[in-house]
Amino acid sequence: MNRHVTRLISPVLLMVFLLSSLAGATTLTADVIVVGGGGAGLAAAIEAADCGADVILLEKMPFVGGSTLICGGVVLAAGTDIQKQLDIHDSAEAMYEYWMLWNQWQVDPALVKVIAEESAGVIDWLLDLGVDMPAVLTPPGVNPADGGLYLSGADSVPRGHTANGGGAGLVKPMMDKVGSDPKITIMLSTPAIDLIAEDGRVVGAVARTKNGEEIQVRGKAVVLASGGFGHNEEMMRRYLPSAIAHGSRYHSISGKGSTGDGIHMAQKLGAEIVGMDGTLLFAFAEGPAPSPVWMVYVNKNGQRFVNEVGFYELVNNGVSAQEDGLSWAIFDGAAIAESGMGQEDIDKGLQVGTLTQADTLEELAVKVGIDPKGLASAMKRWNADVAAGKDRAFFKPLVKPVATPPFYASQLIRHYHVVSSGGVRINTEAQVLKTTGEPIPGLYAAGETTGGIYSKIYPGSGSAVADALIFGRIAGRNAANE
Ligand SMILES: Cc1cc2nc3c(=O)[nH]c(=O)nc-3n(C[C@H](O)[C@H](O)[C@H](O)COP(=O)(O)OP(=O)(O)OC[C@H]3O[C@@H](n4cnc5c(N)ncnc54)[C@H](O)[C@@H]3O)c2cc1C
Repeated sequence: MNRHVTRLISPVLLMVFLLSSLAGATTLTADVIVVGGGGAGLAAAIEAADCGADVILLEKMPFVGGSTLICGGVVLAAGTDIQKQLDIHDSAEAMYEYWMLWNQWQVDPALVKVIAEESAGVIDWLLDLGVDMPAVLTPPGVNPADGGLYLSGADSVPRGHTANGGGAGLVKPMMDKVGSDPKITIMLSTPAIDLIAEDGRVVGAVARTKNGEEIQVRGKAVVLASGGFGHNEEMMRRYLPSAIAHGSRYHSISGKGSTGDGIHMAQKLGAEIVGMDGTLLFAFAEGPAPSPVWMVYVNKNGQRFVNEVGFYELVNNGVSAQEDGLSWAIFDGAAIAESGMGQEDIDKGLQVGTLTQADTLEELAVKVGIDPKGLASAMKRWNADVAAGKDRAFFKPLVKPVATPPFYASQLIRHYHVVSSGGVRINTEAQVLKTTGEPIPGLYAAGETTGGIYSKIYPGSGSAVADALIFGRIAGRNAANE
């Protein structure tokens, strides 16, 4: 990736850097300083440069991309040309209604409206940059590896516009643009550690270079695009204690740079933070376990409680809602055989205790602490439903009975952190707001660093990247025009 994506510090800037170092005051200047080189930061840098600004992009890691690079490459959008080509009728209004309803109007309507209205434009922008996003309709709920459009949430219209190549397919064309623009300089392994404010206005950032030196990077405005905080244990403990309560089983799959730095820096200047108790936290069988299609989820009373293959946020919340937080995936020997799982995987699960095996469902229930009668009756009903071709409980597309011993249980744990939904409050111009509601002059933010946009419940794959790119572009444009 680095070969394609990095344009390191430019010769002119290097000269400035060396001279100022020799003079004892290591200060770099640009019009706009962008903190973080994920989706939001790259979009901000491109847009600011397109508006004529010189940009310095500070990136903490030795490579750019952040969570955006490793994401599924899905961007939620409505009213796009891709939808039109596929004869799908959609509108910004419909997307807005869905998003707001889904979040029970407990997110910022003005920000959601911007995302809905700008979403079709951001797809055009990505296509213009060279992102390969084919106009192909793929099955609901399945992220298309080769790109395409699919139903990526609980909405009724396919809005998940997916890049061929996933996150890398999105990021590489953005990096190519950044790398070829002489107005943008990227400094890798150079985290911003603080903001510089003078007379109440943000005029730059303090950063630590690769060799440990603290430098000042000054300009007209700063865009915070440093991502979420899934890898900051202290913040997770404070704001999302139910996730971190899983101890060593807690796991964040977000980019390693997601340590909440931008949120901290903005807070020090009085920024309000919102939606901190929201997050996209996946519940999975602890595993090893075969594909969920074959599983039946039950609680400690042995009752099913969700369509196991429904939209993931419904499953996640269903798991959280069970008594004592306890639920299990139940499956059988036939499922194991069809899944292609090896005996080695099973033995490992049995050994570490993430998998329990028994010859009968009753024995299995007793072993893990499920009411045996409840489980027996739920399984009887499930198998009868499979035979009749209809899941009377949740309309799950039926796949297999659970009838072939041995039987297995694997506990469902909501421990997989993907997206932080909380962060600094911004307005529709991407300006960071104080607790008083006033903007902090010279300070912008976008992406996972911000909050209040999908804090309550995640609307579906593509929401976070749409948010990051749309507000990244707005932030870059406005910062350039300061
Ligand atoms: C596995 C996975 C799959 C996902 N799939 C999707 C999907 O398909 N669609 C979707 O909408 N969302 C998806 N998400 C969520 C989405 O990827 C992120 O919410 C979004 O990309 C965040 O973009 P961002 O620019 O705000 O942050 P990031 O992309 O994380 O970028 C932040 C950058 O800032 C850098 N940084 C941090 N601190 C500092 C500092 N102090 N100084 C300088 N740099 C700093 C980081 O190193 C990083 O490069 C997924 C997330 C994961 C983890």
